Amino acid sequence: MKNKVVVVGGGMVGAAMALKLAKQGAQVTVLERHLIDAQEVLANAQIDIRVSAINRFSESLLDELGAMPLLRDSRIAPYHQLEAYEQPNNTLLFDREEVSQTHLGHLIENKLIQASLWAQFTEHSIEVEQVKSAPVALEQNIDSITLHYEDKAYQADLIIAADGGRSQIRQLAGIGVTGWQYQQACMGILIKLDAPQQYKTWQQFKPSGPIAFLPMQAPYANLIWYQDGAKLASLQSFSNEQLKEQILEHFFELPGDFTVEQKALFPLARQHANQYSQGRLVLVGDAAHTINPLAGQGVNLGFKDVAALAECLEPLEDMGSTQALKAYERKRRGDNLAMMSMMDACYFGFSNEVAPLKLLRNGVLKIADQAGPLKRKVLEHAMGW
Ligand SMILES: Cc1cc2nc3c(=O)[nH]c(=O)nc-3n(C[C@H](O)[C@H](O)[C@H](O)COP(=O)(O)OP(=O)(O)OC[C@H]3O[C@@H](n4cnc5c(N)ncnc54)[C@H](O)[C@@H]3O)c2cc1C
Repeated sequence: MKNKVVVVGGGMVGAAMALKLAKQGAQVTVLERHLIDAQEVLANAQIDIRVSAINRFSESLLDELGAMPLLRDSRIAPYHQLEAYEQPNNTLLFDREEVSQTHLGHLIENKLIQASLWAQFTEHSIEVEQVKSAPVALEQNIDSITLHYEDKAYQADLIIAADGGRSQIRQLAGIGVTGWQYQQACMGILIKLDAPQQYKTWQQFKPSGPIAFLPMQAPYANLIWYQDGAKLASLQSFSNEQLKEQILEHFFELPGDFTVEQKALFPLARQHANQYSQGRLVLVGDAAHTINPLAGQGVNLGFKDVAALAECLEPLEDMGSTQALKAYERKRRGDNLAMMSMMDACYFGFSNEVAPLKLLRNGVLKIADQAGPLKRKVLEHAMGW
């Protein structure tokens, strides 16, 4: 008999998880708050302000799941270089040539990634149901798990919580988190550029917070501006023309004139679930861990969860096996924690004007740029290899 799996949350990670397990023979139902019409989203010219830097590991997963060909036919922007610096004379530049690759990754709108995965659901007999209310109870016994809503219940061999950082399923199960809210928030700004296609994504560290340039398919790009939350909130009330003036004062390296199209504010939190599974319930993606988006790794970690969980469940007759779910946690917890800690080292290391630290970090960037094999290792890690 087929394993019954319920995935709660059909975002990028939940949708990939659903497909991966359906391909492994499970009968999958996705419960999602906001339904989408995948074909309509893929055909829509409206640009999503939320974009993700998708590394090579995630690209191969999206390829395997049939999503990548749709994305290549839609809007996608490969990047060839990745640059980080505090002062322009001390840059750390990663280049595709150092790893003999055509590209280091792609910048892709989140809604396109989600839609390219949803577009595969019918072929794999994945059912999608909309849930409008919060779940009220989670009931487990030795060979099944049931998620209850006011008006309906879903019984399964395995329930996967992929319902994001504020996971109701995680809360319902009483799984706690450790973490904190960062003092900084970030603003995403979609701009329309008067410049040819750009292939370098860069980030400049400033004591008030980093700024980053993410080139999307021309003529668009995304600017990410990290700062004290109150300052950003005041910027949000600016008109697009006023915001452009502010951008020109802070972002020196933009490749051409531009217009501001959209802006959105995101709070920044670090959060790690105290356990990734409980009986026949398991957490993936942001439901298990949210990370400072400094190096654009959140969904890439989520896709690694998907691959690891699927691998642990692959040979099993019972996908709700507690041992397999614990094995998944052992595979992923360390990696997720290491990436979170690295982001925190960058966040705290660069968010100050302490003179010796400033000297040290610029020295580190300079040395890192010339570090040969070590630099290559860091680059491979960023690419998800
Ligand atoms: C500014 C910013 C920039 C980022 N840049 C990058 C980047 O460049 N690269 C990268 O890898 N990561 C990036 N990230 C992180 C990335 O966006 C997240 O890690 C990713 O969205 C997590 O995906 P998810 O599917 O786990 O969760 P989500 O994207 O939060 O999706 C959760 C889904 O569950 C649904 N849902 C929620 N609650 C329920 C419920 N109770 N019942 C049913 N459905 C529910 C939601 O509607 C949604 O569809 C960035 C994050 C931010 C804030």
